[in-house]
Amino acid sequence: MHKFLAKCDEALADITAQGRYRRFVALEKLADRFPYYRVTMEGRTQNILVWSSNDYLAMGTDPEVIAASVDAAQRMGAGAGGTRNIAGSSPVHVALEEELADLHGKDAALLFTSGYVSNQASLGAILNALPDWQVFSDAKNHNSMIVGIKDGRHAAVHIFKHNDLADLERLLAVAPADAPKLIVFESVYSMDGDIAPIGAICDLADKYNALTYLDEVHAVGMYGGHGGGVSERDGVAHRVTIIEGTLAKAFGCHGGYITGDFKVLDYIRSVAPGFIFTTALPPPTVAAALTSIRILKADHARRALLFNRAQTLKAKFEAAGLPVMPSESHIVPLMIGNAAKATEVSMRLIREFGMYATPINYPTVAAGTERLRFTPGPKHTEAMMDELVAALQHILLGHSVKAGVK
Ligand code: PLP
Repeated sequence: MHKFLAKCDEALADITAQGRYRRFVALEKLADRFPYYRVTMEGRTQNILVWSSNDYLAMGTDPEVIAASVDAAQRMGAGAGGTRNIAGSSPVHVALEEELADLHGKDAALLFTSGYVSNQASLGAILNALPDWQVFSDAKNHNSMIVGIKDGRHAAVHIFKHNDLADLERLLAVAPADAPKLIVFESVYSMDGDIAPIGAICDLADKYNALTYLDEVHAVGMYGGHGGGVSERDGVAHRVTIIEGTLAKAFGCHGGYITGDFKVLDYIRSVAPGFIFTTALPPPTVAAALTSIRILKADHARRALLFNRAQTLKAKFEAAGLPVMPSESHIVPLMIGNAAKATEVSMRLIREFGMYATPINYPTVAAGTERLRFTPGPKHTEAMMDELVAALQHILLGHSVKAGVK
């Protein structure tokens, strides 16, 4: 056997022994019945209720968003057919970038093929522009930012304790005073559901003459008066140098972007391989995202419903004695503390109750903090929540199953 194949065998056996082997459940989203999905498992096909979608506001199944996608496909075809430079830049791409710049109150926006790529490509481009960057990165930053920072070949990287202003200042204070500095962080941390003190981080950035790069992937569409994220909610978007986001979560579509100063984005557009050398987003996706953003800019009720649902589920979990983790956001994590058990609870929820919640295991979260992650949205009713609570009480606390629960 080739040495590499033997290595694959060994690594997979190891991952399996640790209970971390990832089995993808093939879920067919039912656009007219979201959050229900159709699944075939162990020879049985059934509709299951999904609690873990990042389509937080159900925009991916919104009739207007779907219609925009269908219309664009009929007018412009299924794919862009080229990079932005080679026939792939359509009027909807330009309109979407203008809409995103407006959403965040910035000069300009730049689209990427995913949120992941936007972070990796932008941070790599920024950090390779100068030889002496000092980067300050939150300890819980998403892998896409970590990889982007690592792509900066000469940058000195300092990891500050998660959301810890004192630790960030300690590191800023000892860095060379005249070196260019960049603070990289998120607004809503999606596995714990906590939120960064953006304004206070901007204060430190001002004090130490640093630029700021903020990932609002789990906040855009949901926070702020128009869905501009936590930076809009807190009135500090103008203080952040670059705001990054995704079209794939609350906007329900696909793709990523950055917004900021025109000159900075023009530079990134001109040098970032992850922007230059890949086919542009498909026009139907871009048209759908544009419609979704415009709807959410005005639909305050949908946003309010999301937070109401999250609050209600947290309260129900707490009242039921379930190990809900503290979270200030729309994300509701339930601590399980063991990889094999998290996977088992998730499988039992499907098999016995027709519901699905994703187990979150290492390396996404630290070993020993494995959890199930719930993201109730506007279409999850209180009756659904009551069924979920009864199912979890049965699986985790050994309660008998109440009549009426599947
Ligand atoms: N940034 C954060 C914080 C994320 O959690 C994710 C994905 O979950 C991404 C970026 C990547 O976004 P996308 O899914 O659009 O690639």
